Amino acid sequence: MRKKVAVIGAGASGLVAIKCCLDEGLEPTCFERTEDIGGLWRFKENPEEGRASIYKSVIINTSKEMMSYSDFPIPEDFPNFMHNSKILTYFKLYADHFQLTKHIQFKTNVLNISKRPDFATTGQWDVTTEKDGKQETAIFDAVLICIGHHCEAHYPLDSFRGIKNFKGRYLHSRDYKNPEEFAGQRVIVIGIGNSGGDIAVELSRTASQVFLSTRRGSWVLNRVSDYGYPLDLNSSRFFYFLKNTLPTSVINAVGEAKVNKRFDHANFSLKPKHRIFSQHPMVNDDLPNRIIAGSVLVKCNVSKFTESSAIFEDETVEENIDAVIFATGYTFSYPFCKEIKVENNKVSLYKYMFLPELEKQTLAVIGLVQPLGAIMPISEIQCRLAARIFTGEKMLPSASEMKEDIRLKKEEMTKRYVCSQRHTIQVDYVDYMDEIAELLGVKPNLLKLLCTDPKLAWHVTFGPCTPYQYRLTGPGKWEKARKTILTQWDRALKPTRTRYVQESSPSPLLYLFLLGIVVVFAAIILYK
Ligand code: FAD
Ligand code: NAP
Repeated sequence: MRKKVAVIGAGASGLVAIKCCLDEGLEPTCFERTEDIGGLWRFKENPEEGRASIYKSVIINTSKEMMSYSDFPIPEDFPNFMHNSKILTYFKLYADHFQLTKHIQFKTNVLNISKRPDFATTGQWDVTTEKDGKQETAIFDAVLICIGHHCEAHYPLDSFRGIKNFKGRYLHSRDYKNPEEFAGQRVIVIGIGNSGGDIAVELSRTASQVFLSTRRGSWVLNRVSDYGYPLDLNSSRFFYFLKNTLPTSVINAVGEAKVNKRFDHANFSLKPKHRIFSQHPMVNDDLPNRIIAGSVLVKCNVSKFTESSAIFEDETVEENIDAVIFATGYTFSYPFCKEIKVENNKVSLYKYMFLPELEKQTLAVIGLVQPLGAIMPISEIQCRLAARIFTGEKMLPSASEMKEDIRLKKEEMTKRYVCSQRHTIQVDYVDYMDEIAELLGVKPNLLKLLCTDPKLAWHVTFGPCTPYQYRLTGPGKWEKARKTILTQWDRALKPTRTRYVQESSPSPLLYLFLLGIVVVFAAIILYK
């Protein structure tokens, strides 16, 4: 009999969870509390209880080749950085292609999952759901929790004196949808994560003045990297090798010099005390343009609000404030599962997925990571691993080994990152993918590749570490993986090459000039 798996949520993680279960001969049933797939990426004008909510203009900051599922590349004509509507289209193509929707029960809320009395021998769960006001409990052999972690607003009003007396409007970024309603207003945006940056930039085009308040500043990266390539296509195995080998201070210095070359973070009042790799990446191509145009003014933390003004920690005052947007991030919790304990966004899960103390490993949390890269391929490789653990093909290490791994990870995180409730589940894309791939048996063997397929080895080592690399070998091997890797640059370039342009070739004069330099040097050396 096929093992039954409950998948909770039908967003980017839930969809791939269904597919991975099917690939491994498991029987998935996905429960989605809303009426459609896509999770956070399905924009709605009004935020919904229990589902993450985005603003209308959100453009993803991870590029299409890096965020694609590993055996279903994003169509070549889709832009590198997609608007949320395009991302939803991709998820729909994926769901249609692998016929996933028939496994989803929509408008079904999971209320509770609990171990069955015989859990120690069966590993089974009671899953209680609610649909149309009717509750039901069913038995499942395993559970994949795919509910995301951007649903509950972190709204620290208590930290802002006087906010309750403020007569203007104040809201969390979760409730921000579009800029029109703030036209002509003086607005403060609090927090300089990706939401704060995006919202400040967007508002600055119609508001009369935007103040971007940050308690510690931020390094700002560009989506568009050198020569117009997507920034994250620099995430090669070679880059990660350097990052993990060279002293951290060197890597930080190189990164900071690079971003400061675009604009000096000190001159733009953004320079933080921490180093560039000690924060979750903040990606914003427009922020320096808006700051230099004066439409965004960077301020320090607000110490107090009055009825109409804000007093900042440097004792400057901004009067006649109309609105305050708290882009202060999110918290997460699992109220329907008492086994998973979360405190201040801290949770003890092996590889951010498994509870070491469970007698049977039949529960996994998917997508509970904040990567330096895209979440989708991470959710996918997590699901591939979880599915094989559920079938018994793979085993996890002992509880004590898992706990030690958790302890080390926490220690590393504390050492590297600024202490903040937003830095508790950080992972580096390639390192983490490789960790899971190793457990799953799908990590590419570079030495073997070099001997058998040097061209591919070159692309795998020095090219972007795209998700297809994890389909070259081992369980779930995909015969098109090699070709998809070798054509990834074509797909990245296709969407911007929309007009015929004659490729410029270097002028013969340049060659003559270079030849001249060589001759002069040779002459000098010979003369000496
Ligand atoms: P979600 O997309 O949040 O989906 C969870 C689903 O679970 C929802 O459909 C919800 O309705 C359902 N659900 C929740 N609870 C229950 C329940 N009890 N019962 C039944 N169903 C339930 N990530 C990137 O990789 N790149 C980016 O550039 C990026 N940009 C982002 C921009 C914003 C503004 C935000 C907020 C996040 C961004 N993220 C980005 C992170 C984002 O969380 C992931 O891209 C992705 O949406 C995670 O998918 P998920 O399926 O894990 O969670
Ligand atoms: P976030 O990354 O958690 O950032 C929250 C910001 O608020 C930080 O600057 C934080 O400062 C600040 N903050 C929190 N509590 C505060 C307090 N009490 N006082 C003052 N400042 C406070 O949240 P987010 O920006 O909403 O991003 C959430 C996730 O969505 C991230 O993964 C992000 O990458 C993603 N996202 C992506 C896009 C995109 O792709 N375009 C857009 C938006 C969001 P500290 O650092 O000091 O704690």
